[in-house]
Amino acid sequence: MEREKQLAVVHYHEIALKGKNRAFFERVLVSNIEKIAGEGVRVKRISGRILVEFSGNREDIKKILLRVFGIRYFAFAKKTKADINEIKKASLSFFEKPYPASFRIEASRSEKNYPFTSQDLAIEAGAHVKENTNIKVDLENPARTIYIEVVEGSALIYDDKIQGPGGLPVGTAGSVISLISPGFDSPIASLKVMKRGCEVEFVHFHSYPQTTRDSIESVEKIVGVLSEFSPASLKLHLVPFLDIQKRIIKDVPNSLAVIMYRRWMLKIAETLAQKSGAKALVTGDSIGQVASQTLDNIASISEAVKMPILRPLAGYDKEEIIDNARMAGTYSISSLPYDDCCNLFTSGSPETHSNIDAVKKAEDSIKDELQELAEEAIKNREEKIVQTN
Ligand code: ATP
Ligand code: MG
Repeated sequence: MEREKQLAVVHYHEIALKGKNRAFFERVLVSNIEKIAGEGVRVKRISGRILVEFSGNREDIKKILLRVFGIRYFAFAKKTKADINEIKKASLSFFEKPYPASFRIEASRSEKNYPFTSQDLAIEAGAHVKENTNIKVDLENPARTIYIEVVEGSALIYDDKIQGPGGLPVGTAGSVISLISPGFDSPIASLKVMKRGCEVEFVHFHSYPQTTRDSIESVEKIVGVLSEFSPASLKLHLVPFLDIQKRIIKDVPNSLAVIMYRRWMLKIAETLAQKSGAKALVTGDSIGQVASQTLDNIASISEAVKMPILRPLAGYDKEEIIDNARMAGTYSISSLPYDDCCNLFTSGSPETHSNIDAVKKAEDSIKDELQELAEEAIKNREEKIVQTN
């Protein structure tokens, strides 16, 4: 039934505010829609919106557009000539019995020399609908709204605005490295910075063969899910971390082990970022969620690197993060059990209010050795290019 050519009109928001960057942002958004949608769509930019022409199923296109950051809302539209009689006819065609209790028409025009003002357009089309259906006009609280946009010699008419994911197009904000584990948090943290336009490269630290490869497999699957939101396939670094952990545990008090693990994860991630030109690191920390995420420990961990660390989930509750994971499609993978490398060799209670001087003192005597082990780990990392699942 839905095989003929169809049209979605896409609106964006913040990108319109970005001054002289606007053309750049729009070009990236067009290209991202093309790449995420793949074959079978034609994407075109016309004064302040984007038109997506497709011949497939609406539900499929809807799923795709809901994953393209930068889209504020979109609608499946009918396109006619910008002729008042055609517009009237198309507006009426949205009403089938049983009729809604009331309606309103909202019109806009991007050409100021069009013979009708926005208000006249709404009045003309509204009168036509009312004459033919007898449905009541209600400007305040209508049961149905029909939207008319006159642009570049055409009219786009639709009745249902679908809210997009918002944010900025991926690729407009520079690149970052995200520290990712198979848990619920870090995949969502990564998605949050993608939503703000960042390209993300991933790094996962594993303790194989002391642990199974479960965490690696889960992380690969999660990055596959995240790649559905990305115009390009995603890079994942798998870094062997076991030797570093063994060295730390030998000399560092057990209560500081996780803090020390985290410091060296960040140092390695920072080195990878310098290699690839990434400008910040991303973690899934949420303030106070676990012992390593108290403000004191966040400070002791962050001190290890110079590069900015983004923590997009700092203010999120676990429930909100899990809701996000359900929406993003990472929930079922993050629910699977895995051996967390950070639990390895640690026992008893971790320090919840570490002091940076004590942490640095504990690190000092083994710093050079850890540095060598870190270089070794970077050399021995596996690099994967993860495609959409
Ligand atoms: P997550 O759900 O993301 O695993 P979490 O609540 O389990 O987070 P922690 O395990 O304390 O919290 O980890 C805090 C952050 O440190 C993670 O969000 C992630 O960014 C990073 N991290 C933890 N373990 C790893 C790992 N093995 N590889 C890469 N990054 C990690
Ligand atoms: Mg974790």
